[in-house]
Parts: sequence; C-alpha cells; structure tokens
Amino acid sequence: MKKFLIIANWKLNGNLKFINKNINLIKKNINNSLSFCNLSIAPPYIYINYINNFLKNTSISLTAQDVDIHIKGSFTGETSIKMLKDVGVKYIIIGHSERRLFHNENNNLISKKFILIKNNGLIPILCLGETKEQKAQNQTEQVCIQQINNIIKNSNINIFNKTIIAYEPVWAIGSGKSADIDKIQKIILFIKKYISSLNNKVAKNIYFLYGGSVNYSNIETFFKTNIINGFLIGKASLEIQNFISLVKKSDKLISLLNRS
Ligand code: PEP
Repeated sequence: MKKFLIIANWKLNGNLKFINKNINLIKKNINNSLSFCNLSIAPPYIYINYINNFLKNTSISLTAQDVDIHIKGSFTGETSIKMLKDVGVKYIIIGHSERRLFHNENNNLISKKFILIKNNGLIPILCLGETKEQKAQNQTEQVCIQQINNIIKNSNINIFNKTIIAYEPVWAIGSGKSADIDKIQKIILFIKKYISSLNNKVAKNIYFLYGGSVNYSNIETFFKTNIINGFLIGKASLEIQNFISLVKKSDKLISLLNRS
C-alpha cells in the first residue's frame, strides 16, 4: 500500500526561534511513530539546510516551496534544482496559486519547472485548481486539464510517472472552508481518468493530494474515500502541537480503514 503523504507548507512563516522550538518536537513525536503516513516539511528556502541537519536519518523528508528554471548563473535571488538536491530536498511544490498570483507564474513556466524537477530525479508536486470565478462558471475540469496538458505538450505523458498532483481549489486555500469531499473525489477521478486514457500505468503511479483548509477537526471527512493519497497543509501546519495531533490522527484513521 502507498503511504499517505502529508506536506507541511510553512510558506513565508517561521524563524530560527520557531524552528529550534518545534523541529525536535516534530522529530520526537513523529519519527518512526507512523505506520501509514509519511511527513514532509516545506520551510522557507533559507532554513532548508538547517532543518536538514535535524532530520538526517529520520523518516521525515524535506520539500521546497519552489525552484528556478535555471541551473546556475546570473539569476539574482534564485535557487536551483541542484542546490535543493544538495541540501537533501525530496519534493518541490510548483504551480501554487500564490506563486501564480503574486509572481505571475503561468502554465508554461510551471511546465518547465515540472520537467526540470523530474529530469533531475526529484519529485514535483504540481498544484492545480480553480478560482472562485472559475468554479462559478463550471470551469474546474477544464482549468485542471489545461494545466496538465501544458506539461504533456512540452514533454510527454511519461513525465507524470511517479509524480504528485495536488488538487487545491484556490478559493479553499486559507479560507477556513475546505472543498466538499464529493467534489474533490469527482475532480480527482476526472483527472485520473484523463491521464489514464493517455497512459494507464502512469495514472496509477501518480499521488493525488488535497489542499485547502485541512485541519485537525475536519480530516475525518477526507478519509471517506481512498482517492486522496495525502494532504498539502498550510495554516494548520504552523500550530505544531495541533499539527502533530493531525498527523497522528491521520495515521490512526488509515489504520482503522485498513482493518474494516
Ligand atoms: C496551501 O497553501 O497549499 C494550503 C493548502 O493552505 P491552507 O491549508 O492554509 O488552506
């Protein structure tokens, strides 16, 4: 069975005090204590290497929140895939709605990042999902497929093999209101079927995460179906005690599902 993957996206939050206080807490409570889940932490770039030193030889991995498309050279302010690899990163989030919105990232740039990550042996987490306006106009499926097609167009369907797609409705992110599980199931199934129509084996090798206001109190609803292979969590990953409880609760809920 594939392990459920929980990614803590700390975004532009935290400092050395926060990390020193919490990273050992996470390590002590989580490392080797989970049977069905894997945990990965996505801190701001500047703290990745520091945290890597704490997480070496643990089951907890590191995720980067973005990557540049260049490998090296005169690109002030950027961080390359080789650097992320160098400091022990396993997954890289790309296409997050906040990067699309605040940094004008488009599907073309995101597809370049996806291909670069894959070709360098790391695992891309492609975020996709509709805005409130697109939802109102019933464009969810079209928006998600467009984002996928752009990557296929610049490479081919095999590029999706062993990658991660995070369905993150933009209106649900940070809003406190998660998407309805039936709707999540419908759209993930739709994406899966689409990819499967192009290559069934590849479709089977993709992890599907859900992100958008997941918290300790609402996680049960997401386990009503086994279509979700993990969560991408923003706000709720910053309250560390609650977050540890959320991760442990997820592990327990999956163990109960496996038994029944
Ligand atoms: C996110 O930003 O990817 C996210 C899911 O945030 P939140 O959990 O705060 O909605």
